[in-house]
Amino acid sequence: MLTFTTNSRTDRIPAEERARVLADPGFGKTMTDHMVRIRWTRDGGWENGDLLPYGPISLDPAASVLHYGQEIFEGLKAYRHEDGSIWSFRPQANAERLQRSARRLALPELPTDDFVESIKVLVDADQDWVPDYGTGETSLYLRPFMIASEAFLGVRPANEATYYVIASPAGAYFSGGIKPVSLWLSTDYARAGDGGTGAAKCGGNYASSLAGQVQAAEYGCDQVVFLDSSTHTYIEELGGMNLFFVYRDGRLVTPQLTGTILEGITRSSILQLGSEMGLTVEERRIPIQEWKDGVASGEIAEVFACGTAAVVTPVGTLKWDGGECTVSTEPGEATMKIRETLLDLQYGKTADTRGWMQRLV
Ligand SMILES: *Cc1c(COP(=O)(O)O)cnc(C)c1O
Repeated sequence: MLTFTTNSRTDRIPAEERARVLADPGFGKTMTDHMVRIRWTRDGGWENGDLLPYGPISLDPAASVLHYGQEIFEGLKAYRHEDGSIWSFRPQANAERLQRSARRLALPELPTDDFVESIKVLVDADQDWVPDYGTGETSLYLRPFMIASEAFLGVRPANEATYYVIASPAGAYFSGGIKPVSLWLSTDYARAGDGGTGAAKCGGNYASSLAGQVQAAEYGCDQVVFLDSSTHTYIEELGGMNLFFVYRDGRLVTPQLTGTILEGITRSSILQLGSEMGLTVEERRIPIQEWKDGVASGEIAEVFACGTAAVVTPVGTLKWDGGECTVSTEPGEATMKIRETLLDLQYGKTADTRGWMQRLV
């Protein structure tokens, strides 16, 4: 296992300023005092890591990430429990996904233990930035990422890469109560194609989703939903969240993983929780017409999106070129039950019988 050298910051953000940030953290606006860095070279492999003062990184302008987008990332949270301890949710799953993303983007794989340790090192150093228990859905959002840092303009996998972890306190995604979001059905754009990088968590997928997101905003929608790029028929996911449908007959349905959908850890957890709650879970291809028809007939009772940042987000309206349908103007019962079950686990309010929680500090 790698070891980490600590270079603590001597000019930490003053406690009063930190308290001001923690009182209303928003999302991703303020970074904590430190960051973790691990360097890799093709010849030498992973070097030991460093905990460093948070700050700008110096990168050669020829670094291949800046030209060819060889970059991957992760997103997970650290939660404060009532006794002051700090935990994360299934971090090994994030480590394994980062390894899968690395294989797809021809980047090196960071071993699971080193990934988890890198997070522990940062959260331990910056534990004062983890919001208090009982302050709502607050957490410390952790962003591990890896870039091709070799200075070389030729097109091939870089021989040098750098992994970092940064952290930022996060407030509740919904500040004024939970309200269903509206989605724009994109028919002009896809986020991923067959054989592409849709199943990898890489910056490029987000870059390609942004034009669709801009279009969604122009049509007055909160988020964009993408269809499969080959037939424009099947529902895939949002720019950064997976989708679920709750049927009146007790089925919980989500698009199956076809290689163009990101395998969300929230998604896989909900599939398990849903089945434990007695719902009949189905992973299959879902035609977009089924959404429209199911809402019209009342067969579909609830729609929600899920991901680490917003946990579970009720979906109200789907808009497309020429029409719209609204499944509900209020969050659904199953949606809220799944949401609460996940949050109660993450904040340690219910016993972790599945071995999903890992103590960090
Ligand atoms: C990260 C991500 C998700 C959600 O994954 P979680 O592990 O649940 O946070 C869903 N879709 C895309 C495209 C993503 O990048």
